[in-house]
Amino acid sequence: MSGPQLITILGATGSIGLSTLDVIARHPDRYQVFALTGFSRTRELLALCLRHTPRFAVLPTQDAARKLQDDLAAAGLDTRVLVGERGLCEVASHPQVDTVMAAIVGAAGLRPTLAAVESGKKVLLANKEALVMSGALFMQAVRQSGAVLLPIDSEHNAIFQCLPVDYARGLESVGVRRILLTASGGPFRETPLAELHDVSPEQACAHPNWSMGRKISVDSASMMNKGLELIEACWLFDARPDQIEVVIHPQSVIHSMVDYVDGSVVAQLGNPDMRTPIAHALAWPDRIASGVAPLDLFSIARLDFQAPDEDRFPCLRLARLAAQAGNSAPAMLNAANEVAVAAFLDRRIRYPEIASMIDEVLSLEPVVEVKDLAAVFEVDAKARVLAEQWLSRNGR
Ligand code: NAD
Ligand code: MG
Repeated sequence: MSGPQLITILGATGSIGLSTLDVIARHPDRYQVFALTGFSRTRELLALCLRHTPRFAVLPTQDAARKLQDDLAAAGLDTRVLVGERGLCEVASHPQVDTVMAAIVGAAGLRPTLAAVESGKKVLLANKEALVMSGALFMQAVRQSGAVLLPIDSEHNAIFQCLPVDYARGLESVGVRRILLTASGGPFRETPLAELHDVSPEQACAHPNWSMGRKISVDSASMMNKGLELIEACWLFDARPDQIEVVIHPQSVIHSMVDYVDGSVVAQLGNPDMRTPIAHALAWPDRIASGVAPLDLFSIARLDFQAPDEDRFPCLRLARLAAQAGNSAPAMLNAANEVAVAAFLDRRIRYPEIASMIDEVLSLEPVVEVKDLAAVFEVDAKARVLAEQWLSRNGR
């Protein structure tokens, strides 16, 4: 390869974005930052631009973009600041870009991530919501453009590492019996059920093993994250929901496993630090240093496993049902969940109401076929309206 690869980081100011920049900064000979995007943390984006000198930056409003442009000019940088979703799509599909890290949280990442896919980039996918919402269209776009899609979600990155290179022939053809999707069980794995009514957003965001953004932290507490990951795994590995088993593994040392017909179970292990899957996907098929400490098996000493309890984690059941129903159901589930998590973080609803609200919203709409992106966004908007109606009906 000639010269460093040029990289766009969508969601650079977030947890995954910052971990990506940490890995990239260790390998200036291999990677160079092309564009960085942010949303509300404009001062953080300015600091990142000063450090990594990208050619482009993106912010959501004209005012914020103008201010950043002025600050960058005052510091002597010629970084161009673009605005909004158009700007995101432009830096995701720019002809000079080799690799796009898709690390915006939620449905907001769908169009820019698809723009990267459609222009045939190497796409490192952290934004699982984009794939959950539009799986069939997303994977069709990957096939049509020849984009290289590599999973960043630690479980999916682990599964990818545990599968043979020709897994696209079909899981059964390559001898896979099951995918074992591991989950930590989050901060409420052992909390008495009666106490869940009173848990706070801070408690939900205090994940025992991983440090992440607030939305995915709440999803991990409710195990909706594992439900979204189940749907994500179905699309990435062309699996049926019944080929995937969720296994609670509180230490988060095994990041997932593949169970083969001959009785072999292949696992990927490591410290719970997202720089490992990020470095893996950035360099694939090579290996590069990520800054993650070597795994100390003697201090870990033991690995535990248990089956998930769907009474404790009703979101997991809702997501499995949506995975089985397919079509519009996952987009509906995702949008209702985004509204519910935001309402919980704003203290408008109690933690157990996240699941009851999603359940009710899903029951109000029939599952329909989604033929194009417009239909996906229609479903997304409909679910958000129904979720807001739930909030007002319940006096929030
Ligand atoms: P985060 O909240 O820390 O960061 C989110 C990023 O998205 C920020 O850069 C923010 O500026 C940007 N953003 C938010 N709303 C936006 C909008 N409306 N338009 C444009 N940009 C917007 O989240 P995170 O933990 O880094 O997670 C990012 C994605 O990666 C999520 O989809 C999450 O599920 C996935 N993921 C994260 C982890 C992790 O360890 N953090 C692990 C696996 C997968
Ligand atoms: Mg994960």
